[in-house]
Amino acid sequence: MKNERNTVDRRYFLKSIGVAGISSVIGAKSFAEPNEPNTPDQNQPAPAAQTETPQIPKRKFGRSEEEVSALSLGAIQLVDTPVILMSSLKWGVTYWDTAYGYTGGNSEICIGKFLAENPDVRKKIFIATKASGARSVKDVEERLQTSLKRMNTDYIDVYYGVHVLNDIDQLTDELKAWSQDAKKRGLIKYFGFSTHKNMQKCLWDASKLDWIDAILTTYNFRLTKDPTMQKAIDACNKAGIALTAMKTQKSVTVETDNDKKLIEHFSEKGFTEGQAKIKVVLEDERIAAATVGMNSVAIINENVAAVLDKTKLARDDRMVLEQYAALTCSGYCAGCAEICDQAVPQAPYISDVMRSLMYHNSYGDKQLAKAAFAEIPADVRNKLAGLDYSAAEARCPQRMPIARLVKQALEKLA
Ligand code: SF4
Repeated sequence: MKNERNTVDRRYFLKSIGVAGISSVIGAKSFAEPNEPNTPDQNQPAPAAQTETPQIPKRKFGRSEEEVSALSLGAIQLVDTPVILMSSLKWGVTYWDTAYGYTGGNSEICIGKFLAENPDVRKKIFIATKASGARSVKDVEERLQTSLKRMNTDYIDVYYGVHVLNDIDQLTDELKAWSQDAKKRGLIKYFGFSTHKNMQKCLWDASKLDWIDAILTTYNFRLTKDPTMQKAIDACNKAGIALTAMKTQKSVTVETDNDKKLIEHFSEKGFTEGQAKIKVVLEDERIAAATVGMNSVAIINENVAAVLDKTKLARDDRMVLEQYAALTCSGYCAGCAEICDQAVPQAPYISDVMRSLMYHNSYGDKQLAKAAFAEIPADVRNKLAGLDYSAAEARCPQRMPIARLVKQALEKLA
């Protein structure tokens, strides 16, 4: 009976906030009404009557003294939509993750407008941005200056000076000197890079560098059983490097029986599959935060509910996710670019093609997809149609239909 009650309570808790409209979010006096317990752990004392909107818990940001909200607003699709920022603030989602290149610069501009109108907010939030497309330290400096202007701020909390690191050689001595100088000038507080290509090696190598404060890395339910990734995360954790997980979800629409089974399993437990995927990542205490692209209030509410809910995933929940990962691996590029780069040395950008296509197909963001695709050098892009991908397909651990996907990318993004 007690378990049944918990399940019902949790279902109500998760689903109810997931469908709340903006007026109920912004105007909410209390998140948990009487008789709507959100404390599934019955050993915990019941909270005092809540009069404030509950806040996303904070976690330590690596070796720094700083704390950040465990759920981070991924502003990858932010345009002129301040309601997204307002809603995030309401729940204490104060770690905002943007980039020089997101929505053609409009993501940073939207944040800048919001801060100009609400100057007191700046000290409450933690801003991450990235030097998208920079090919030299001069580019990094120029992008930082532009980001500062766009966002109406004097400093960036964490600056990912390499947006998409795939080899540690990109972290040059010149970049190190620049990062130290930018800190001295008070323009950035922490420096790091983002990676979704050869992440395991990038994290491992970076753990040996004393000047890397933070890394934004792909990390999701598909990687929790990857021993190399686990070892790399441990190494970064020991080195005091703050890890923020991205690409945690990739929400599922029912397309196959596997999708249907996943959705149904978590629906029975009172979760959406997306909520379960965030839980997996944040149950890992080594992760400072999960950044999730959130472009509607409903999505913010759904993710906030998942993070506020203290129920841990059960063993069968994890097993279902693991089985799903195994059964659907051919639809997911794991970023192990070294493998396909060696198989097709004429075009060492296959994982970039896959990522661009993911922005198009999974995020529905054509602009971002085309921009990411355009970052592949033109001479490589021009060769893609005529190459033989059979060796890469044979070696790909995810068994991805690379040739077919490259063709699709050329049709949609070239
Ligand atoms: S296409 Fe395959 S081998 Fe290449 S990065 Fe993606 S998962 Fe790895």
